[in-house]
Amino acid sequence: MKDQRESAADFTSKSTRDSEHNNSSRNYDTNSITMPFRIGSGYDVHALAPGLPMWVCGIRIDHEKGCVAHSDGDAPLHALCDAMLGALALGDIGKHFPDTSAKYKGIDSKILLKEVYNLIVAHGYRIGNLDITVALQRPKLAPHIETMRSTIATILNCPLTSVSVKATTTEKLGFVGREEGIEAYAMVMLVKSL
Ligand SMILES: [Zn+2]
Repeated sequence: MKDQRESAADFTSKSTRDSEHNNSSRNYDTNSITMPFRIGSGYDVHALAPGLPMWVCGIRIDHEKGCVAHSDGDAPLHALCDAMLGALALGDIGKHFPDTSAKYKGIDSKILLKEVYNLIVAHGYRIGNLDITVALQRPKLAPHIETMRSTIATILNCPLTSVSVKATTTEKLGFVGREEGIEAYAMVMLVKSL
C-alpha cells in the first residue's frame, strides 16, 4: 500500500513538473486552439429525386435524379465543411448556414466551402490533408474524381496531393443501394500556420 501511495505521489509531482515545463518553455495551452494539428470528421446525406440537379464535390453530374436540399445538396462538400468546422470545434454547417435562411436557398456549396475555409484561415489554420468517401449506387463517379479533387484543392488553396476523393456503391444495400439517397463522409487534418 505504501509503495502504491509513493508511486502515485511520484506520478503527480512528475505531471506537475511536465506541465510547468511545457507552460514555461513552449507556452503550450491544451485548452485553447493552439495545437499544431487538429482533426475533424463530417457526415452528410441527401435524398435523391427525379428531375433535380445532382452536385457531387462541386461537380454537376449528368443523371436522371438529383439531391433534395435547401442548398444545391452537395453532400460531400457539406460533410467536408462539417469536418473543417469540427476540427476547430466551431459547430456545424447548420449553425453557420441555417437552412431556414433564404440567403442559402439553392446556394452553390462551393461558396459555403470557401466561407468555411476563410474561417479556418482566420483561426490560423490551413489544410494538411483531407479524405472524402462518397457512397452512391449510380451513376459511376470514377470519371469525375480528378475534376472533383482539383476543384476542392483550388477552393482550399492546397496541393492536389492533399485532397483525396473516393467513391463507392453500397452493393445495392440500404437507401444508397436503392438509389434513394447519397451519403458522404469526410475527414480532415488542419495544420497551424506558421
Ligand atoms: Zn447537406
